[in-house]
Amino acid sequence: MTQYIFEFGPEKTDGDASQKNLLGGKGANLAEMARLGLPVPPGFTISTECCNHYFDLNGHFPDTLEAEIMVAMANIETQTGMTFGDPDNPLLVSCRSGARSSMPGMMETILNVGLCSATIDGLIKKTGNEWFVYDAYRRLIMMYSDVVMEKAEQITPTDGMGIRLNLEMIMNNLKNDKGYNNDTDITTEDMKGLCHRFKKIIHEYLGRAFPDDPKEQLMGAIGAVFKSWNGKRAVSYRRIEHIPDSWGTAVNVQAMVFGNMGETSATGVAFTRDPATGDNKFYGEWLINAQGEDVVAGIRTPNPLNNDTKNKQNQHLSSLEDAMPELYAQLYDIRNMLESHYKDMQDIEFTIQEGRLYMLQCRVGKRTATAALNMAMDMLDEGTIDEKTMVCRIDPKILDDLLHPIVDPEAEKTASRLAEGLPAGPGGAWGQIVFTAEDAVRWAKSGKKVILVREETNPEDIEGMRAAAAILTARGGMTSHAALVARGWGKCCIVGAGALKIDVAAKALRIGTRIFKEGDYFTLNGTKGIVYDGQLKMKDASENPKFKKFMAIADTFRTMKVRTNADTPEDARTAVEFGAEGIGLFRTEHMFYGSDSDRPLFLLRKMILSKTQDERKDALDALFPFVKKEIQATLDVMDNMPVTMRLLDPPLHEFVPQAEETQKEIANALHIDLEEVEKRSEHLMESNPMIGHRGVRLGITYPEITHMQVKAIFEACAELIHAGKHPLPEIMVPVTCSEKELEFTNKIVTQCHEAALAKYDMAKIEYMFGTMIEIPRAALIADKMAEYAQFFSFGTNDLTQMTFGFSRDDIGSFMNDYIDNAILSSDPFETLDQSAVGSLITTAVERGRTVRPEIKLGICGEHGGDPASVVFCHKAGLSYVSCSPYRVPIARLAAAQAAIQHS
Ligand code: ADP
Ligand code: MG
Ligand code: MG
Repeated sequence: MTQYIFEFGPEKTDGDASQKNLLGGKGANLAEMARLGLPVPPGFTISTECCNHYFDLNGHFPDTLEAEIMVAMANIETQTGMTFGDPDNPLLVSCRSGARSSMPGMMETILNVGLCSATIDGLIKKTGNEWFVYDAYRRLIMMYSDVVMEKAEQITPTDGMGIRLNLEMIMNNLKNDKGYNNDTDITTEDMKGLCHRFKKIIHEYLGRAFPDDPKEQLMGAIGAVFKSWNGKRAVSYRRIEHIPDSWGTAVNVQAMVFGNMGETSATGVAFTRDPATGDNKFYGEWLINAQGEDVVAGIRTPNPLNNDTKNKQNQHLSSLEDAMPELYAQLYDIRNMLESHYKDMQDIEFTIQEGRLYMLQCRVGKRTATAALNMAMDMLDEGTIDEKTMVCRIDPKILDDLLHPIVDPEAEKTASRLAEGLPAGPGGAWGQIVFTAEDAVRWAKSGKKVILVREETNPEDIEGMRAAAAILTARGGMTSHAALVARGWGKCCIVGAGALKIDVAAKALRIGTRIFKEGDYFTLNGTKGIVYDGQLKMKDASENPKFKKFMAIADTFRTMKVRTNADTPEDARTAVEFGAEGIGLFRTEHMFYGSDSDRPLFLLRKMILSKTQDERKDALDALFPFVKKEIQATLDVMDNMPVTMRLLDPPLHEFVPQAEETQKEIANALHIDLEEVEKRSEHLMESNPMIGHRGVRLGITYPEITHMQVKAIFEACAELIHAGKHPLPEIMVPVTCSEKELEFTNKIVTQCHEAALAKYDMAKIEYMFGTMIEIPRAALIADKMAEYAQFFSFGTNDLTQMTFGFSRDDIGSFMNDYIDNAILSSDPFETLDQSAVGSLITTAVERGRTVRPEIKLGICGEHGGDPASVVFCHKAGLSYVSCSPYRVPIARLAAAQAAIQHS
């Protein structure tokens, strides 16, 4: 029989932190904390495997489950001395979701399960606290009706609100009518009345009575938590984070402890170090007389945990350190213990019930990129972790944020400051303000940069938050939903900017006396928490010495080289600053676009529209000095470093002149009439230019084109060598599918080489000859290709395109459907498809090496900067990856981690 249930608690713990896949992160860490002897209320975890079976059985529990649950419940009862459903001494439990990796707020948790008419009086008698019992009851009613009775039943609210909002509205109206500021001001009588009204409304609204049987509540809650794995929010979060549907969620059933039993009770959230800066300071927020989610929900401004946590919003509120010094000291010890045990920053949840501390959760805490860097380096210095661990501590994807723009400090000095809030997500951003998640998505789709402004965010806003350039909320603390999510993504975010008075219906907000409307520009400094009017100038984050040191350590582990794709000397220079060790793809086509391109473009057009070889040679001769100059400038910057130069691969039809003026000019230059130009242009049109007359094919038809380029390369090199430089060109033939193409092209290269040696009176110009592997046929006959090619560079953009038969320019219309329907788990143009494209690569590597064991291997598609693809390249045995200049640090780190983890 499969074991579905794993207990944890002071007396017996089955699992441990290594079992995240089976127990979910929350369950595995609850077990680990119990093993460490921390005060964890007893409970049990129902495995993710059970969740998957539950779905296989179309939403029915496996036969044996209920009996197993009852046994485990009995064990909680013995440990707590309370009995589930007992009228005198009732046990209450929570049912908590928890997947393998944390999905903050995306799934459901239900507290206070087991409260019903039979147990209410007993609990009142036992606690002597009637208010508390009714507060707990109304929470149960609100959560349960929402999660179990509505969402899990897939009921779509006809009023667009849902039961939860309806109940909240009633509660808010009551508070307004009676002048209650906080939930805790509501009188016992009113709380009782609320519970009564809630149950009536639920019956009317959902057509079913709120269950009054504890066991029915429990089983209903467990099923609903499983179902929340397939809830709308959870699914869309998984798509964004590439989390597979097959993981499932665990359910943790745990004895309740109560932070809402009065002035000696409390609840809080803390981080063992500051998650925004990485400072080695205990950081957190807490609320007196409250239950778990009140802290994150932004219902009241939470109190600071200690002096270190005080900020402008909360400095007037008392800290736990001051209010309950002994409990704070105990919590502080636990903080130290958890850090030294896990050797990483932990995010923890705790509750204090009548002066006793309980631990309810711990997990590796989300952090900003800056904090990740600072913490990793500090922990290395402290001797907590070694260099390898340190290098693996930073997700390469977040390096972007360290290099991301910040608001130009100069511009900030004179900017008009609108409001201040808490610095929840790093960097700076400007955008047009919008007030709903849907608007954020819509505006972003139409190419606008938006700032999503909300009272506070909730998990339903997730896609809008994703689409926005930055997030701004009026309420909530550093542990609020918005802060948590933004930090996870490294997105610029400010929370708790209390000066914002938002009117969602009017799509406007007021700050003081000023009104701002949807579409107005704001700029946010997410590192400091300041909101500015208008659109301020941005600046690249300056080179940070800690970052440099971190990268230097990472580089010591790396075995693959990292090159860049650069077409201009400026790009090359930037990339070298980021640590590029060569160019993996240099294209000359760019000289026909943009500034200074008039003359070369004209000559290219003339060449394209030439009919006779003489005409073409004339045009090429005139083009030659431009090409040579371009090549020389880049080789100069990349002195001593290899530069892979791709021979021309221009989409000819794109260069055909359209304007009559240009057509006339060309006609004059070629001594033909306009009609002839039109005729020749038409002749060049292709139905499938992507697989048309391009790349090496052009050079086969017009060898003089290849000749001109290769001559330019060798002459540029010869002159640089004369000037004392050391160029290392690698001539790369694109779009090949046969070794004969290489043989043909290589002859021209050899001729040009010899001609250059003679012309400059030199003995040798170092160079390599190779090809891009971007057509499946070339990969499959790599052994033949290797007879001529000294190197292969995998052009994975085209290779992906041709392997899938997906046109890269047209996937926009269907890729989302492929992802949404889980046909593909990610866009193969972003992350290399390891199964098919990957196996073409490994096949080519293997076959190429049979003929040329020392063959040089690299990749030059966009994938070269994608961490998962970099790991693949390392495993495939490539010598280097090449990516755009800004991705060079990402590729360096990914390559270092690949070497550490896969050697
Ligand atoms: P999430 O994954 O959204 O954080 P949790 O399962 O952690 O959801 O629960 C939500 C809130 O309820 C948290 O603040 C948590 O500390 C609190 N909570 C969960 N179980 C208990 C319990 N047994 N006793 C008291 N509070 C609890
Ligand atoms: Mg939690
Ligand atoms: Mg290509």
